Amino acid sequence: MRARVLMIYTGGTIGMTEDPRTKALIPLNFNQLSQHVPELALMDLELSVQAFDKPIDSSDVDVSTWVKLTGIIRDAYNDYDGFVVLHGTDTMAYTASALSFMLENLNKPVIITGSQLPIGRLRTDGKENLISALEVAGSVKDSRNKLGEVLVYFGAHLFRGNRTHKYNTEDFEAIESANLPPLASVGTHIIFNRHLMLEPSSEPFIVHQEMERNVGVLKLFPGISQAFVERLLSTPGLKGLILETYGAGNAPSEPWLSCVLAEKVKMGMVIVNVTQCNKGFVEQGRYQTSVGLSEAGVISAADMTMEAALTKLMYLLAKGFSLEEVKRYYVESLRGELTSYSKLV
Ligand code: ASP
Repeated sequence: MRARVLMIYTGGTIGMTEDPRTKALIPLNFNQLSQHVPELALMDLELSVQAFDKPIDSSDVDVSTWVKLTGIIRDAYNDYDGFVVLHGTDTMAYTASALSFMLENLNKPVIITGSQLPIGRLRTDGKENLISALEVAGSVKDSRNKLGEVLVYFGAHLFRGNRTHKYNTEDFEAIESANLPPLASVGTHIIFNRHLMLEPSSEPFIVHQEMERNVGVLKLFPGISQAFVERLLSTPGLKGLILETYGAGNAPSEPWLSCVLAEKVKMGMVIVNVTQCNKGFVEQGRYQTSVGLSEAGVISAADMTMEAALTKLMYLLAKGFSLEEVKRYYVESLRGELTSYSKLV
């Protein structure tokens, strides 16, 4: 039997065309997009499509977009073997990370893809990305390809979604997964790294649609002022903060910084230490310049991307857990988003 795949079109460059007046790229509707990919009719799949009524540039993605996407997947879950989401690259890593937490106990693939050049351009990367993503989604008919997670297919690689980051605005290889090798690479054959894949769940599928919006990101830089940090952390209602630190999780050792952070942690804010580096781990305590963060009660994101760290915070804070529970779950790998401490040493 052929695999049944649902393609969900949200927008993004893949389906854009130039506005004749302003020359800016604007989204096409799905029918216009599909005319550029006659190959879809040749694929050995039962393909269905759901398109957003108003396709968006992914810079306009919001929590409501994730709620809409997870709702579509929830309602169609039992009717398909896999899902392919067409999405802009700008916030693809955020959506992939958010969906990984919002969709619990997946036993089918949800593959997000897009492109750097519109599908109507001769040199587009969109066709290859779209056709390969569909082929990978359909490959679950082969019982060796157990894909039960949120993935990103881009630039000939299949990545775990919550490990991705857009690092390049130019190249066709625009997405990286610096802390986890690709789960598959596509050349003349599709080579799966089966040992890296998450085991599809046998538990009932659960969709979580609450995400806490009262969160923020503070990127450290040399010369950052106390007034700026205090102001930002005094944002009314702020419940969680991603602190983007240097290297292995280091911060200026001036006492005012750890004092401000400690005070907010005492008041119930969850503050997470994420490195500004793309690759490697936060190791609080390795340098003297991160000891103050540990003492202030800041928790470590280990090797999580900023996108995964932020959406995990939004997910856990919306659960109504106690502060201790949020902190306990935060440092565990919930969906393969971090390498556990025990595997570090
Ligand atoms: N601005 C576009 C978007 O994210 C960029 C892209 O798709 O590559 O929707």
